[in-house]
Amino acid sequence: MIQSDASALSQEDTASLSQKMSVIAYTSRMLYTPVEALDRPVLLVEDGAIVKLGTRGNVEVSSQAEVRDFGDGILAPGFVDIHIHGSAGYDVMQADASGRRGFEQFLARHGVTSYCPTTIAAPLDVTERALARLADAIEGAARENSGHDNTGGGGRAQPLGVHLEGPFLSHAQRGAHRPEDLISSSGKIFERLWQAARGHVRILTIAPELDGALEVIAEAAKRGVCVSLGHSNADLESTRRGVAAGARHATHTFNAMRPLRHRDPGIVGEVLTNPSLTADVIADGVHVDPTVVKLFLNAKGAENAVLITDATSATGMPNGKYQLGTLEVEVKDEKVQRDGKLAGSVLTMDRAVRNAMDFAGWDLLRAVRIATANPARVAGAQNKGVLKPGADADFVMLSASGEVRATVIKGKLVE
Ligand SMILES: [Zn+2]
Repeated sequence: MIQSDASALSQEDTASLSQKMSVIAYTSRMLYTPVEALDRPVLLVEDGAIVKLGTRGNVEVSSQAEVRDFGDGILAPGFVDIHIHGSAGYDVMQADASGRRGFEQFLARHGVTSYCPTTIAAPLDVTERALARLADAIEGAARENSGHDNTGGGGRAQPLGVHLEGPFLSHAQRGAHRPEDLISSSGKIFERLWQAARGHVRILTIAPELDGALEVIAEAAKRGVCVSLGHSNADLESTRRGVAAGARHATHTFNAMRPLRHRDPGIVGEVLTNPSLTADVIADGVHVDPTVVKLFLNAKGAENAVLITDATSATGMPNGKYQLGTLEVEVKDEKVQRDGKLAGSVLTMDRAVRNAMDFAGWDLLRAVRIATANPARVAGAQNKGVLKPGADADFVMLSASGEVRATVIKGKLVE
């Protein structure tokens, strides 16, 4: 009987019914776009995308829509981490990809809905193989998340494109990178890396003072890559030449950078004062003193500051030895080190947001913006990091103090 009733519905009816059923209306006390705050918001989601956004007074919710009320929570875009090497025991350069699912679920639980897997300097063939695997992951995630495929997509943070941290880095400011893996800047090497990643490079960290760097900066910028100044010993003039060549961002400001001096401002002086540059910082309280994080946030403001984690595979794991690209690092008391030098972090994005509030006295709205819209803009991801019609339905529900209560990726609630 039931079967014959169901078959009595025309195909058209079934299609329109399932379409109506697929609209979900999210509500809560407050929503951050994140440029502004909306009271009593309504967010209509269909097929993994936001179709309408407004307040309960001005958005009509059809009786067919499923309503999900997040109570007194704050709806905000999902976090976008543009500098991350791994977490939960998984390193983005490792050959065995089986840990990637768990890693992306770990990110989602910490509010991260998309990320740029970040490579470190390694032997060129090792990097090329890692880039090919990352390109597979990026293309696979894009396929899963596209169209009407409701089987595999969502529920996990999505890789957007690679961040190449090296190999064009300064020997003087190499941090934990091995000197033998650093390569002087060359368009030919950049082309090899680009080909290995099949064009999926979103960010390139480079030291502008190296021989050949300006040509690589110009070429990468021409291809739409965000060129980020970092691991650099550049003085003011070399930094400005890098900016003129096309650099528009700075990588983990203060760390692996020529220090700021009052008569030798160097790269940090330019990064802090040039409003055309965005810049990121590791706000874990270990890499940069909380007072200097405050100085940084005040200098770059809610428009141009970006939070990153620089997290390693050790994140979310107990003390011990872990992999960072081709390096072995040791974690003890929230510090990741190699030969006595800091080598990435165990920071999570939700914690970075709360630290920005603690360290700088910022409100949640501004702290969220520098973990969402700003990094998405740096990575050139137009449908990420913002809540607006047409954007991907990637969002979090936060408590007033910035704890992640729920994460939704491409319209799917993360379990
Ligand atoms: Zn890094």
